[in-house]
Amino acid sequence: MTVLMLNIAPDVAELLGSEDAILAAYRAAELGYRCTVCGDPGQLTEDESASVVLILHEGGAAATVLRLAHGWCSDSGIRVVDDDPTRVDLDAIRPGLAWLRPHPDDPRAVLLIAPRAHILRVTAGGETIDRLTAGLLGTGFALLTDLDAALPSLDGLAVRLGPGDRLTVLDHQEVSLWDGGVVLPPGWADAARTAGRVGVVLASGLNLHDPTRDHLADLATATGDGAVIGAAGHLLTDT
Ligand SMILES: [Zn+2]
Repeated sequence: MTVLMLNIAPDVAELLGSEDAILAAYRAAELGYRCTVCGDPGQLTEDESASVVLILHEGGAAATVLRLAHGWCSDSGIRVVDDDPTRVDLDAIRPGLAWLRPHPDDPRAVLLIAPRAHILRVTAGGETIDRLTAGLLGTGFALLTDLDAALPSLDGLAVRLGPGDRLTVLDHQEVSLWDGGVVLPPGWADAARTAGRVGVVLASGLNLHDPTRDHLADLATATGDGAVIGAAGHLLTDT
């Protein structure tokens, strides 16, 4: 029998409030996470425990965010911090990949984001919301019908290409929806600058952490399943 040790303190369980939220925490921990204490990757297995840490941002005034920590780094508990929740580093469970599409796709430069698990935002009623998906659908992302489909331009959407090949996706209120370092394929940055636009494609069912997978083949499958949405934002550069 497999025994997975996910530490959930009673006050954390109470704040999570629902079985769904707790199961989602298990799933996120099993898929792999970045420890909120030490910053190293972790994964809940028989040999490795994990702890659920709820972060109450802005001193508790903003949304509660569920994070995971190695069992040896932290006990399960509630932490109240003064940070803005948008600065949380979620690379480990929401990896991104810079994807250069062939001519004459529009736009060619695309950021592919493949959440590994739902990012939990716990509401007062114990519901969980994938903030990224909810945010993007709310801004008018369209279902991707095939890998070469044109992506609709959204006025409020922007993608910043910063130093060190860091991409940041911003909504119309300049709130960061995604932020992370990526490896840009040759020609990606030129294509983005030429078009002045970058596509943002969100897909479920992909594992960008697994280098043995053919990510574009998986993306094609997900597209066929109606599990891919996309749009294009204007490019912002710091240089
Ligand atoms: Zn750790």
